[in-house]
Amino acid sequence: MIVLFFATSIIAQPDRWQQRVKYTMNIDMNVQTNRFTGKQKLEYTNNSPDTLTRVFYHLYFNAFQPGSMMDNRSRRQGAINGPQGRPDWDQRVKDRILNLKPDEIGYQKILSLKMNGRDQRFNMQETILEVKLDKPILPKSKVVFDMEFEAQVPLQVRRSGRDNPSSQVRYSMSQWYPKLCEYDYEGWHPTPYVGREFYGVWGDFDVSISIDKKYILGGSGYLQNPNQIGYGYEDKGAKVNRPAGDKLTWRFIAPNVHDFMWAADPGYIHISKKLKDSLTIHVLYKPTNEPAKGWEDLLSMAEKALPFIEKTFGAYPYKQFSFIHGGDGGMEYPMATLCIGPGAALHEWLHSWYYGMLGTNESLYPWMDEGFTQYAEERTSAFLSNSTGFAQRDNYASYFSLVKSGKEDPLTTHADHYNYNSAYGASVYSKGAVFVEQLGYIVGAPVRDNILLEYYRQWRFKHPNAADFMRIAEKVSGMKLDWYKEYWINSTRTIDYSIDSLWQDGAVTKVRLKKVGLMPMPIDVQITLKDGSKEMHYIPMNLMYGEKPLEDPSIPRKVYEPWKWTSSTYIIESNSKLSDFTFVEIDPSQRMADVERKDNKLELKW
Ligand SMILES: [Zn+2]
Repeated sequence: MIVLFFATSIIAQPDRWQQRVKYTMNIDMNVQTNRFTGKQKLEYTNNSPDTLTRVFYHLYFNAFQPGSMMDNRSRRQGAINGPQGRPDWDQRVKDRILNLKPDEIGYQKILSLKMNGRDQRFNMQETILEVKLDKPILPKSKVVFDMEFEAQVPLQVRRSGRDNPSSQVRYSMSQWYPKLCEYDYEGWHPTPYVGREFYGVWGDFDVSISIDKKYILGGSGYLQNPNQIGYGYEDKGAKVNRPAGDKLTWRFIAPNVHDFMWAADPGYIHISKKLKDSLTIHVLYKPTNEPAKGWEDLLSMAEKALPFIEKTFGAYPYKQFSFIHGGDGGMEYPMATLCIGPGAALHEWLHSWYYGMLGTNESLYPWMDEGFTQYAEERTSAFLSNSTGFAQRDNYASYFSLVKSGKEDPLTTHADHYNYNSAYGASVYSKGAVFVEQLGYIVGAPVRDNILLEYYRQWRFKHPNAADFMRIAEKVSGMKLDWYKEYWINSTRTIDYSIDSLWQDGAVTKVRLKKVGLMPMPIDVQITLKDGSKEMHYIPMNLMYGEKPLEDPSIPRKVYEPWKWTSSTYIIESNSKLSDFTFVEIDPSQRMADVERKDNKLELKW
């Protein structure tokens, strides 16, 4: 607590401009044809210092057409073998896009687009719409775009679509509307959709969806007309008063988010629980591919986990979160998730912190979203199950097998451009999670925890990048950590230290350590003696310009002069006799991702 207070008092809030959007959309859905029409008013504020002569939108549904980039990409992966020697398909896509019929494909067609009332010229490049503006948007000015569009919901292939084959949910409506691309200090991000990650502009959504009266909806926003809708949304004791006609119009408002998802099915079961005055959890599910119990249990899981999550990763500021059955696997959206089963729910909820509130550009820094979320999931799971084991063990194992495969790309790789799907997963999720756990080895676990909270406090709603995180880590820890990013994120260099030799030298015992791998690290060495007592020998690495605080006060620690990264050996000294040693071990905590642990521990048998 003291460290955090100290840190917050010396770190100034970062100053970075942000574009801003306000969407007002009216959607008319036809559940017979699976098509809808939309009117979209988009108020766009250019807070950048730049004059914009064009803008870009995402049209994600156009990916679900034979011959699209996403189709090409998926079939290409199926034609090559991944690290495990099997075709590197995205199993959920395979050749399904190729086989879509005309009434099963997805599309978004732009019927008209005006800026401040004037028609604009645009051209569609599959999943990206480029608009060449008739007049530029000046710095610090606001314009209004009015768009009319129509769309067909694809048969569900990946994440979004209709008639999910396993859950039998009718509509999983993610990436469903023309969405403005983000413009930031790196310029426009018109990333064609090939099935991976997302990036969006912060803003407010006001979405009205007219749909067959029998359908039950859930999604990103707060329902504005619950007493006209019912289905469990009505105020306690209120009489539901539905307007006449075949359709109901559901109006949702979602403030300060960078996307909007909704889902609809006439068979959804809707349950909810108020966790506190400011937060209600909703669950919408069908007892199709998973039993109801797992879904029902999400309410108590959320109640138990929330205090731990908020204390560890920061406050959840929205009034609602919804676990919704649909999509494939699990996928995160603002204030909601689409999951094929309750097993994915905790991971997707924790995305609210990294995808949702911090909102890094997931294409450029997918590990800052997936890796941090994966880390948070393992840690929260361990809390929920009262487990005291090494929570991140599976992430380390997955990283080690990635290294063995020889197919690793550095974490700086754009999410879409990883050569192998399977290597992408192990890199972004597992190596990303190891990044956070291993940071705790370098700076000390309590300091790492303060870094996570300070990062959240300073960068939420601001799209931080890797350098922004590292600067927070440096300021909170008081150490230089740029080298950690250079090796762990920018390269595929690995860590390997070993115990080289030990000998009695007069009154002291000397232990020579060896740096075998190319990535340097600070080193903990624990010596265990015959009487069961332990000694900790700690060697900082010279590029850190600092040392981690004592982690375990029950073990005396000797701190050495820094190990220079150019030196391949280092000798430590113990005042105990060699004949009293039973074990010598480098990093007994196993948080340092040493790729060859066999030579890290020596047992002495006398
Ligand atoms: Zn995830």
